Amino acid sequence: MLNQPVDLIFNKSVKGRRGYVNPPVGVDAHAPIPQAFMRKSECNWPEVSELDVVRHFTLLSRLNYSVDTNFYPLGSCTMKYNPRITEKIAQLSGFTDLHPLLPQLLQGEKFTQGALQVLFEMEEWLCEITGMKAFTLQPLAGAHGELAGVMMIAAYHRAKGNKKKYIIVPDAAHGTNPATASIVGYEILSVKTTPQGILDLDDLKSKVNNDVAGLMLTCPDTHGIFHSDIDKIAEIIHAVDGLMYYDGANLNAILGRCRPGDVGFDVMHINIHKTFSAPHGGGGPGSGPVGVSDRLLPFLPISRVIKRADGSFALNYDYPQSVGYISSFYGNFSVLLKAFAYTLILGGDGLKQTSDHAVLNANYIRACLKDYYTVPYDRICMHEVVFSAEKQVARGVHAIDVAKFLIDKGYHPPTVYFPMTVKEAIMVEPTETESKQSIDEFIQVMIKADELSKTAPESFHDMPKTMPISRPDEVKAAKDINTCYRG
Ligand SMILES: *Cc1c(COP(=O)(O)O)cnc(C)c1O
Repeated sequence: MLNQPVDLIFNKSVKGRRGYVNPPVGVDAHAPIPQAFMRKSECNWPEVSELDVVRHFTLLSRLNYSVDTNFYPLGSCTMKYNPRITEKIAQLSGFTDLHPLLPQLLQGEKFTQGALQVLFEMEEWLCEITGMKAFTLQPLAGAHGELAGVMMIAAYHRAKGNKKKYIIVPDAAHGTNPATASIVGYEILSVKTTPQGILDLDDLKSKVNNDVAGLMLTCPDTHGIFHSDIDKIAEIIHAVDGLMYYDGANLNAILGRCRPGDVGFDVMHINIHKTFSAPHGGGGPGSGPVGVSDRLLPFLPISRVIKRADGSFALNYDYPQSVGYISSFYGNFSVLLKAFAYTLILGGDGLKQTSDHAVLNANYIRACLKDYYTVPYDRICMHEVVFSAEKQVARGVHAIDVAKFLIDKGYHPPTVYFPMTVKEAIMVEPTETESKQSIDEFIQVMIKADELSKTAPESFHDMPKTMPISRPDEVKAAKDINTCYRG
C-alpha cells in the first residue's frame, strides 16, 4: 500500500479527514511555474571542496559548549548528561522509519502498535511518578505544556460557567508562567516571597477572590526551596474553585519522594528534556507532557492513545470537550522515546536516586561556598542553590563578572540575575551526573573568583579574556547587537 502515490492513499483511506497533500480544488498541481517567479540568472551556489565543508562543520562543532565537554551548572535548566543508550534506542529503525501519518491510515495502525505502546506506557509511567490521572504527551516544551495546561483550566471554567479573570503567580516564578497565563487571556496577580524564600501565605490570602482561575507554582521553586505549605495553598485556591498548576521544571528534585497529584495539584507539566534526560539547549527539541487530575480529564488535547479490550493500541479523537490539537501528530516522539528508555533503564529506585544525588550535590556546593558567597536562604536546599554576590559587589565585582571569570576558566556560567527576588543572584544547579571531582574543581574556581575580587577587582572588567570577541557593552547589546562589542 505504501508504494501507491500519496494522494491515492489519502483519497481512499482517510475517512472524513482532509488529506494534507492534495492541492485545493481547482488548483492544477502540475501547472508550470509562472514566468514572474522564474530565476533570471544562474544561482550563485558556493563551490567548496568536501574537505573544506568537513573542516567548517568540525570547527563549528568544536566551538559548541556542551554537557559532553564541560560542567554546565546553569540553574533551573538541569543540564545533565544524556546517556548514549537512550539515543541509540531512539534511532532504532523500527521507530525512525515510521511515517507520522501511518496511524491514521486504514491499515496503518497495525504497523504502529509498538510506537503507540511506547506512548501509552510512557503516559502510565508519568501517572505513577506524579500521581496524576492522565497525561497528554503532545506539548513540545515546558512553556508549551503550560499553555496546554492553562487552556484546560480556562476550558474547565468555561464549561462550569465560571467567570474568572486572574491567575496567581509568585514573584519568584519563571517568566514563562505569567507569559502563558497572559496569552490564554488571564490577568496576573503576583504574590510575594517571604524572607525564608517561600510563598507568602498572608499576601496570597489577601489576593485570592472568586475571580481567581488558578495558581501556578514551581516546587521546589527557583530558590531551590520546597514549599511545605502546598496543602494550605491548595485549600485556599480550591475554596474559590480555582485550580492548582504545578510547574514541573524542578521535578528532578522530588522523584520518588513526593507526587504533585497527591498534594492537591490539578494540572502539571514535566520538562522531559530536564528531568528525564533528553538533550536540550539551542531551542529544542523538547517535550512537555501535561498531567491532569479527574477534574480536567475531559479537556485533554487530542489525539489520545487508548488500549482496546483485545490489548491493541489506537488513537482516539472522540473527546467532545477537548481543547483540541495542541501540536501536530503526537508530540516530539523521539524525545519521548529517549525518556521512555531512560525510565525503563533506571526504574523506580534509579529515578529516586537521581533526585537524591541532585539534591546532595547542590547542598555540597552550598556548604562549601557559603563562607565565600552570601546564601540568602541559608537552609537545606533542593536540587539547586542560589547565592548572592553582594559581598563581591562591595568590592566592585558583580555577579556578571563572576560569570565572565568562569567562562575564562572553561565553565558555562551558572544562571545569574535570576530569580529576580535575589540581588546579584548566582544560581547553581550541578545535577546528579557530575562527579565529586568535577564539583570540587568548580568550588575551587568559585573560591578563586572571590579571592580575586579582594586582590584585583579591576581585573574582572575585561573578562572574558579567552574569547575571540571582547566583552559586550551590556546596554548597547540590548539595543543593537551589531555594534555592541567594545574591541
Ligand atoms: C525551564 C523552565 C520552564 C520552561 O520550560 P521550557 O521547556 O524551556 O519551555 C518553565 N518553568 C521553569 C521553572 C523552568 O525552569
